[in-house]
Amino acid sequence: MRFPIGLSASLTAYILRKKMAREKFVPLVLMLEPLFACNLNCSTCGRIREYKDHVSEMMSLDDCFGAVQECGAPVVSVCGGEPLIYPHIIELINGLIEMQKYVYLCTNGLRLAEMADKLTSSRKLQLNVHIDGPAEVHDIVVEKAGAYDAAVRGIENAVGRGFKVSVNTTVCKQTDMNQIDELMGTLSRLGVGTFMLSPAYSYEAVGDKECFMNRDDVHEKFKDIDTIAQRHQLADTPIYLEFLKGERELTCTAWGNPTRNAMGWRSPCYLIADKHFDTYNELIDNTNWDSFGAGKDPRCKNCMVHCGFEPTAALMINRQPGDITKMMRWQLG
Ligand code: SF4
Repeated sequence: MRFPIGLSASLTAYILRKKMAREKFVPLVLMLEPLFACNLNCSTCGRIREYKDHVSEMMSLDDCFGAVQECGAPVVSVCGGEPLIYPHIIELINGLIEMQKYVYLCTNGLRLAEMADKLTSSRKLQLNVHIDGPAEVHDIVVEKAGAYDAAVRGIENAVGRGFKVSVNTTVCKQTDMNQIDELMGTLSRLGVGTFMLSPAYSYEAVGDKECFMNRDDVHEKFKDIDTIAQRHQLADTPIYLEFLKGERELTCTAWGNPTRNAMGWRSPCYLIADKHFDTYNELIDNTNWDSFGAGKDPRCKNCMVHCGFEPTAALMINRQPGDITKMMRWQLG
């Protein structure tokens, strides 16, 4: 099984309940950013630029739990900033598990080796470590010597302590997919369970850099992804991969993965912040969701981000014949 049976079962039951209630906006994953601060300063990261005047601000624990309750998504992705430097991270993760949420703790891994001793493993918790390539590539991308080795030490400690660990890799224009294939092999041997690949593209907060891809570049880069998908457990759904390969179009459903941080509920999405709202309901009611997506807003032109399109796949919004079977095979594979 690619994901824990409990996660698949509760996600499926949740989606069916929402569909039967004919709810239009179904939040699946809350992107919770308890802080903006990070212990890295990557030039491809939008957060530390967008919020440079607010970098010391963070959410209180009560705000975090309140946001989780307001939104109701069954999965919470704790991101940032670097969550492992959030002073209440242990209480936050324990509290989310007590709330019966499935939690993805996203980290650059620099502090993972020491923090794995303090976290408690749970079948509802997955540690998601960001690694962009082998050591010589990753250290350049994150602009810190030794970052890869630190992340690997963290992974080894976490796996040894019984945590489920996944790895998230951003694929840039210069990324050699053969190296990514090898990296996955190396990390699988260390006990990493699943891998998530995300294409890098420019958006407002990061500007236009050489490493970013347009849609044609993404299609070219992912054209042979099926070979990698046969060898490793990818967390990307087959429907999303078809989108990356250019074999189908998907509608943006950014409301499926809403983002909450110290400024409020970010509208419309993880990449664009036109406004911040005080409540989840205000975000949903006051965002003109139909005005976003390729061909509608120029800022969306090259966007193929997970959190905009994986909810589309999970909710079968652009369903085609055979999709259900494909998704079931993928989960069981
Ligand atoms: S297409 Fe991308 S950038 Fe545009 S609203 Fe959707 S997720 Fe955001």
